Amino acid sequence: PGGVAPARFATAAEALHTVFGFDAFRGEQAEIIEQVTSGGDAVVLMPTGGGKSLCYQIPSLLREGTGIVVSPLIALMHDQVDALVRNGVRAAYLNSSQQPAERADVERAYVAGELDLLYVAPERLNTESAKQLLARGKVALFAIDEAHCVAQWGHDFRPDYLALSELAERWPDVPRIALTATATDATHREITDRLSLSGAKHFVSSFDRPNIQYRIAPKLEVRKQLLDFVRSEGVDAAGNPVSGIIYALSRATTEKTAAFLAANGVNALPYHAGLDAALRRRTQERFLREDGVVIVATIAFGMGIDKPDVRFVAHIDLPKSVEGYYQETGRAGRDGAPATAWLAYGLQDVVQQRRMIDESPGDLAHRRRLAQHLDAMLALCETVQCRRQNLLGYFGQASQPCGNCDTCLEPPASWNGTVPAQKLMSTIVRLQRERRQKFGAGHLIDILRGKETPRSRQYDHDSLTTWGIGQDLSEQQWRSVVRQLLAQGLLATHGEYGTLTVTEASAAVLAGRHEVALRTEPERITRSRGPKAA
Ligand code: ADP
Ligand code: ZN
Repeated sequence: PGGVAPARFATAAEALHTVFGFDAFRGEQAEIIEQVTSGGDAVVLMPTGGGKSLCYQIPSLLREGTGIVVSPLIALMHDQVDALVRNGVRAAYLNSSQQPAERADVERAYVAGELDLLYVAPERLNTESAKQLLARGKVALFAIDEAHCVAQWGHDFRPDYLALSELAERWPDVPRIALTATATDATHREITDRLSLSGAKHFVSSFDRPNIQYRIAPKLEVRKQLLDFVRSEGVDAAGNPVSGIIYALSRATTEKTAAFLAANGVNALPYHAGLDAALRRRTQERFLREDGVVIVATIAFGMGIDKPDVRFVAHIDLPKSVEGYYQETGRAGRDGAPATAWLAYGLQDVVQQRRMIDESPGDLAHRRRLAQHLDAMLALCETVQCRRQNLLGYFGQASQPCGNCDTCLEPPASWNGTVPAQKLMSTIVRLQRERRQKFGAGHLIDILRGKETPRSRQYDHDSLTTWGIGQDLSEQQWRSVVRQLLAQGLLATHGEYGTLTVTEASAAVLAGRHEVALRTEPERITRSRGPKAA
């Protein structure tokens, strides 16, 4: 027997108080809810923690029928549905983790009009059987969460999202709301186009998270730097440890780093997709319930984790994109109290990521996109501008210097790096021309500093005219020069070994027509004389 879930409340305010226990709407929530409840489409760009869920949950409670929520993350689906059910909302989900009997039960409840909200994974919604099922009941609205997944330009593209445009054709009278926390202009346009939302109203919130202090440091001795950071930022005013997340690229690094921190008295636990599911669940529970737990994780951790008082997010490897960095750092300080986003990165990160891009499957256009994402991330790292201004500028939002990031608080000194850049570039050009050999940063720096190695002897590099002309800079300083030239597009790296090459823009530097300004970086941190860190 078919049925229609009735409207549960007369007004949005009533639903807000009764179901969620909140006093007032935040930001543009009220306007968004009004738009969708009255049957209009909406595109919502709102930062993580901004309160996107209510924007479709409340209209689902105000309209007749069931709100269908497309969500790509099964774990997040479970959490949201559990929380809704606890608040007296009739919510359920359909995904691949279910037994057939459980699924049949949910389907029956939907058709009978017994559900206010139904969460569906995109790959399931795209099946004909799922569409036929939806047609047997009444849909109140479609919410497309994580809508940036439809954007091929973006960092999180999922092909299943492309087929969601069909919803508009099949249910022309049902309002649709697309939501995302990533909002470059390009992604915004793609969401609008690909999901057929040209008639939608757009709600773009500010992406500023004023309580987060952004700091980006060159990677020197990363473990020591991290330990110093955790010791200084990892305690509150009363000296009690606070909660934090440390992101690393590889599973092995998360485990080693967690063990290192634990050996130094930090309550640190590793988390990555390769760990046993039960252990992951326990780790997540401890992070949510206990004070002062620090999780060292791959980016598998954090999606859908709603912990308001995370006081810091640290990255010990370079994130692959500004969007990713913004999303991950956005998990800090959701309660509005001061929080820190700290990142350490080095030349090795750049080389490694270029290599991963070169080796990544997919066409040239895809690899080019990945390279552009990395370049934008590097530009953020190397900027002498306000970090926040650069970050918001990336999302198309103009702002003033914030006064609360590392470059605002300690404006980086800069120096004229034209001559070292010329020395490096001419060495590369000579090597390319004369020997048709290609070398990475390490060997080039050895040549400039005149360091004898088996390799330099093998290739007769001590006969180069640039041999030893860079002894005025330390190896560390040379690495910084290389990194900054890469970030400025004045050098490029290729292939497995991070071969350095000149770019079109290098010519102007070599000809003396372009002056190179470089950040002055702190000298290598001297080792503490205390007990050696484990
Ligand atoms: P997003 O999906 O945008 O990251 P959520 O919908 O998960 O954000 O909301 C973030 C947090 O803010 C949640 O803890 C949520 O309960 C809370 N929240 C959302 N709207 C309000 C509101 N109007 N008043 C108080 N808290 C809110
Ligand atoms: Zn600033």
